[in-house]
Amino acid sequence: SPLLLEAKDLDVTYVVEEGEVPACRDIDLQLRRGEILGIAGESASGKSTLLNALSRLQRPPAVTSAGSVVFHPLDGEPVDLTALPEEQLRRYRWDSLSIVMQSAMASLNPVLRLDTQFIDVIMEHDRTITKQRARDRAGELLEMVGIPAGRLRSFSYQLSGGMQQRALIALSLASNPEVVFMDEPTTAVDVVMQRQILTQILQLQATLGFAIVFVTHDLSLLLEISDRIAIMYGGRIVEVGMPEQLYSDAQHPYTRGLRASFPPLSEPVRRLRGIPGTPPDLLNLPTGCAFSPRCPLAVDRCRTERPELTATETGVVACHRAGERDDRAPTETATGE
Ligand code: ATP
Ligand code: MG
Repeated sequence: SPLLLEAKDLDVTYVVEEGEVPACRDIDLQLRRGEILGIAGESASGKSTLLNALSRLQRPPAVTSAGSVVFHPLDGEPVDLTALPEEQLRRYRWDSLSIVMQSAMASLNPVLRLDTQFIDVIMEHDRTITKQRARDRAGELLEMVGIPAGRLRSFSYQLSGGMQQRALIALSLASNPEVVFMDEPTTAVDVVMQRQILTQILQLQATLGFAIVFVTHDLSLLLEISDRIAIMYGGRIVEVGMPEQLYSDAQHPYTRGLRASFPPLSEPVRRLRGIPGTPPDLLNLPTGCAFSPRCPLAVDRCRTERPELTATETGVVACHRAGERDDRAPTETATGE
């Protein structure tokens, strides 16, 4: 399917007192129409920074220090969003994208009934629709996420946490977006609710055809829902692949570590194989591969020369030892069984 959004050689830097934090570096990433793109990585790997850069919700101290984010309209020329005047950028954001953040409580308006919030968004986006038709549409959207239309008269605080999160997802679709950005949209709800919400997101996506950029540290979850997954480490993309490939044949040792740290819900509870060590300090990155201090496969070259992203059969990977396996016994971390 056609390109929708792409980051080209993108750098994002936080300019703060302590210095310039290189939170994203050399990001090349494409999103196609209708695609579900997952972005995974440990805490502080730069996932939210990248999501904010792609959605152009980025605010100081974050600065786009190099590269571009290009939007490809269905008809018309590609637009570099990083060079767009604020007025036009707002127009684009309003017309084309939607954001679902971690906490619905922060995003739903507590003093307005749900119907008011839905009808506002729907009527703002469709100047010809009648209020009654907008109300019907609001009810349909709520039903799509499994909330009875009768709840339209509720205030958000009258809904459970899981319902609030689903109402927020429904609201994010009220504008008919081309792409929905989701940053850990289910971490605030329990596992059963998480499953329901994900199923509903997938059903909605299949019906309405919007693209999704889905950020989470939980690689197993992404393996289930994504068309393609980008793995981040220390502000860089270290591997991109299809779920089937990353599941059984990840090329980067970090991807395999991440996968072992978050076993699928369907697997029996067992001892987790965490990744020993801690993520890098971005203000003091190791030379060579940022993962080398934690990597079971690292050799001298890994500590001196940063690996470039290189094409594989199904994706890309940045690793001098790509595809090689660690024969040593896995490190076991107790997890309280
Ligand atoms: P998490 O899983 O914890 O949400 P993340 O992958 O989303 O992590 P980011 O929030 O993108 O990570 O942060 C990437 C890096 O940028 C981190 O080192 C973080 O400390 C730094 N950073 C984020 N926001 C700021 C800020 N406002 N000022 C300075 N540094 C920041
Ligand atoms: Mg984040």
